Amino acid sequence: MTDCLFCRIVRREIPATVVDEDAQCLAFRDIAPQAPVHILVIPKAHTASLDAVEDPAGVVGAMARMAQRVARAEGIAGTGYRTVINTGADGGQTVGHLHLHLLGGRDLAWPPG
Ligand code: 5GP
Ligand code: ZN
Repeated sequence: MTDCLFCRIVRREIPATVVDEDAQCLAFRDIAPQAPVHILVIPKAHTASLDAVEDPAGVVGAMARMAQRVARAEGIAGTGYRTVINTGADGGQTVGHLHLHLLGGRDLAWPPG
């Protein structure tokens, strides 16, 4: 999608600190990190949200595979981490391109707000 923020990051039109990439997904550091490790994993193909995705098993599976790999590379697999997909207004989604938050490096409170 032409003017989607995360599609522009995929096309390298907007700078981002990319930490992993494969044919389906891209992982980059969140611009406003909420934990010592805060990385966003996105599908390269535009999809507005988890609710809109046509092949959730395939797309989320590819995102989970990358999140697992990045967590290990970032050194947080042993201490633990959280993966979050915010969906829609009540879910707190602010960017309309499906993304998975990977958060770690500190003790994360539960439940979230
Ligand atoms: P949401 O609230 O939609 O689940 O998460 C969107 C995330 O995107 C937020 O954590 C926000 O900090 C991050 N974000 C927004 N704009 C940019 C940007 O231009 N670059 C990067 N790297 N992250 C962004
Ligand atoms: Zn997009």
